[in-house]
Amino acid sequence: MLRQVAERFREISEGKVSLARFGGDEFAALGRFTSDQAAADFADELVTTARRPFRIGSRDFAIGATVGYTRRQNASDSVDDLMRKADIALYRAKESGRGRAIAFEQQMEREVRERRLLEADLREAFEFQKLSIEFQPIVEARSGKVASSEVLVRWDHPTRGEIPPDVFIPIAEHAGLILPLGDWVLERACSVAATVPELNSVAVNLSPVQFLEPNLVDNIASILERTGFPAERLVLEITESVFLKDVGSATDKLQQLRDLGIKISLDDFGTGYSSLSYLRQHRFDKIKIDKSFVAEIGERSDGLAIISAVIALAHNLGLEVTAEGVERQFQVDALRTLGCDMMQGYYFGRPDPNPMQITNISKEDWEERSPSTAPRNPNLRSVS
Ligand code: C2E
Ligand code: MG
Ligand code: MG
Repeated sequence: MLRQVAERFREISEGKVSLARFGGDEFAALGRFTSDQAAADFADELVTTARRPFRIGSRDFAIGATVGYTRRQNASDSVDDLMRKADIALYRAKESGRGRAIAFEQQMEREVRERRLLEADLREAFEFQKLSIEFQPIVEARSGKVASSEVLVRWDHPTRGEIPPDVFIPIAEHAGLILPLGDWVLERACSVAATVPELNSVAVNLSPVQFLEPNLVDNIASILERTGFPAERLVLEITESVFLKDVGSATDKLQQLRDLGIKISLDDFGTGYSSLSYLRQHRFDKIKIDKSFVAEIGERSDGLAIISAVIALAHNLGLEVTAEGVERQFQVDALRTLGCDMMQGYYFGRPDPNPMQITNISKEDWEERSPSTAPRNPNLRSVS
């Protein structure tokens, strides 16, 4: 394979660019280009030529290449400087989807530095137990009662204030911190929730990196054992990206987790590939409609149409539906009318460090609302 790749690179480099293999599957190219465009064209050519399948024996392999590159702008730039910049651009290219070429830009260096600082701070915060968790209520559409809760991790940075998990979870994933961090969240959530019987169930988010870890199931089983939290009260929220990175074990893992009694919820439905085949292939218990669709209720006519279609589909597959990001009364009414089972959002309550605080929210005029069309016991529906 390496020889074939090198051969293709050589064909397009011949006479103008020197090539090297750095080790593993990394190559480097060094050449003189008369313009940014010429350099970009060459980088794109590398990507294009690696995109065609490679034949080894009687099999075809699709591998692809990702390129980061830079041009020498300052006479003082050493080869090391150039390599470092190309590497930063490569990192960016990989992050933004692979199979493409991206040029180094000055601001990338600042971002990398920024990210490293944050990563160091995160390590420290984790080590000194400065992270915390909060619970947000999930309310049953029919009764308006709190039926479950979602656990959300929090980081209050000493100088920068609250850093959202959307920012620091990817950093933790990249820094190899997500496994201990994820375990900590799960253990903390289970041990707190074990003391609050009023909280029927607790949903914990699982990063795809955690999900792909070979020991996942044993690990979770031992956390449940240590904390004495019943598996039946635990929900794990995963996103579709799990299946994109999957090497074939996702189906088994989901089954093993469900065998333990844990429920599986598909988070942020509608934002990824929203592949219907995932819904059919894998046994989930619930899906969560992403808040971006809920935000469109009353704003875009197709917002409601999508939600209504997703609810119908989920119910036909025997899945319970939660709508995320419910902030307004008219969204509550629309979602109840459409038969949504559960709702979560600021309308009912913000995430709170004290789980007792969220078990008792009640909206007095609940009964006077437009009636809910949610089926009475969504768990009893079976797939036909
Ligand atoms: P998510 O799992 O979809 O969590 C829901 C997010 O929506 C939370 O954001 C929550 O605070 C926010 N939210 C709840 N109600 C409303 C509302 O009415 N309006 C709006 N605009 N937002 C609302 P948060 O806490 O910032 O978390 C963001 C994401 O970070 C989560 O999205 C989840 O993917 C990830 N995350 C949070 N905690 C963990 C964790 O412990 N482990 C992992 N792997 N990921 C986590
Ligand atoms: Mg979630
Ligand atoms: Mg979500």
